[in-house]
Amino acid sequence: MNFLQLNDNQLIKQANLIDGQWLTSNNSITVYNPATTQALGEIPLIDEQNVENTIHAALKSFNSYSKSTSYEKSLWLLKWYDLVLAHADDLAKILTQEQGKPLAEAKAEIQYAASFIQWFAEQIKSDHGLTLAEPVAGKSFATHKHPVGVAALITPWNFPAAMITRKAAAALAAGCTIIIKPSELTPFTAIALVELAQRAGFPDGAINLITGDAAMIGDKLCQDVRVKKLSFTGSTRVGQQLFQQSANNIKRLSLELGGNAPFIIFDDANLDQAISALIQSKFRNNGQTCVAANRIYVDIKLKQQLVPMLIERLKQLTCGNGLTEDVDLGPMINSSAVSKVATLVTDALAKGAQCVYQADIKHLGPHYYPATLLTEVNMQMAIANSEIFGPVLAIQWFSHEAEVISLANNTDAGLAAYFFSDNIHRCQRVANALDFGMVGINSGMVSHAISPFGGIKYSGIGREGGHTGLAEYQYIKAHCFGHLS
Ligand code: NAP
Repeated sequence: MNFLQLNDNQLIKQANLIDGQWLTSNNSITVYNPATTQALGEIPLIDEQNVENTIHAALKSFNSYSKSTSYEKSLWLLKWYDLVLAHADDLAKILTQEQGKPLAEAKAEIQYAASFIQWFAEQIKSDHGLTLAEPVAGKSFATHKHPVGVAALITPWNFPAAMITRKAAAALAAGCTIIIKPSELTPFTAIALVELAQRAGFPDGAINLITGDAAMIGDKLCQDVRVKKLSFTGSTRVGQQLFQQSANNIKRLSLELGGNAPFIIFDDANLDQAISALIQSKFRNNGQTCVAANRIYVDIKLKQQLVPMLIERLKQLTCGNGLTEDVDLGPMINSSAVSKVATLVTDALAKGAQCVYQADIKHLGPHYYPATLLTEVNMQMAIANSEIFGPVLAIQWFSHEAEVISLANNTDAGLAAYFFSDNIHRCQRVANALDFGMVGINSGMVSHAISPFGGIKYSGIGREGGHTGLAEYQYIKAHCFGHLS
């Protein structure tokens, strides 16, 4: 298998990795380049029997892989890390072709994806249990960490590399064997990453990758008691469904679901820095990120100053095929993503929002949506109550701190929130008051391998990365020693 086959205009057929073997299928799914709408290649439409075979292989491998030492697992991961970095340019090109994001962003995602492999390779070597020497008379206690078993990892299309490594590196470091199910929209980055993991020397069956009918695969992985853990990143709707399907066998779950991040600019903020962070948070990946600034709240005293500054910044954003030099915004993932954004904007305009800027991108094709700036948005509009997942800045004005905190928290989502202020007392107060899993204080980026990533409320359960990321794939056994006389 040569994963570097994904060259421009070359239709390719890729495979599933089951028990160390790359297997194709008679039935396949076509994968398209969102920038050109042309077919890139095909992936297998796995059948139920092969899902069954994959679970069997992962369990068989778990029996030996879980007994490998921390040092062995760390070395496999570090080798994988080195290979990902060595192939970063090829991986980024594959990612841009299937996902659309500009090449510079794809390269940044590969570095970010690699950072999780390195992080967990290092974490596992110092991941100890506790020893409690006779805390009560006649007894001592020790805790031991064990891998939960076979872990299924279901990932979305918006970060086709990082969403896999954030899960896979933690699971493999903990001693779990894994079954990866990437999005059918972006499978080639996943296949390339798994090919590199094979080259790093992980044992057969430790890493498996399957593609096909998401509902069938998801149902089988959830219902099968041999799969002990499901880690899912994607929409809240599918997360709820997987939660229900996993209930029968009390499966361990991590759910990283949708967000609706407030981004607040107070009147005492450094406006230049706040605007730079806002542009980055909103327009990274064309707005298609779960932690994207979604509801923008700005102190009304800044209105006259802010709007022209934002328009000036938006005029500088270039839109086009992500493989082209100096493109800032690529295409959206597909036409239904474009329609969803267009519908939200139409609804907002009908309810009184004002469109003060929209880029001219008519010539680019059906998967592009123009960078847009709306003002006079309010909570009666659908755009303020759902993930926009597109390049639209939707501004609401506020007058008081208490008012904006109440508005910001008035959502079912609880993933990320951001605010800008130069007042340290306000920073502490507002950071504490925002009901979200991650808060950016004078920062529009909250994601890093060393920091726990995850949400509250309908944004999910569990934390990935950081010092707690391994625990998602472990259970703790307590040994209680009676002291015999
Ligand atoms: P999605 O439709 O929920 O899909 C996510 C994954 O689930 C894909 O692999 C998809 O496969 C699969 N899937 C779809 N239906 C399924 C089913 N019935 N059973 C099992 N698996 C199923 O979400 P998306 O549109 O790809 O991603 C966007 C969403 O992800 C947004 O809401 C975003 O906020 C969220 N997200 C969250 C985070 C986070 O860390 N919290 C990070 C990134 C994205 P197919 O694509 O092959 O159908």
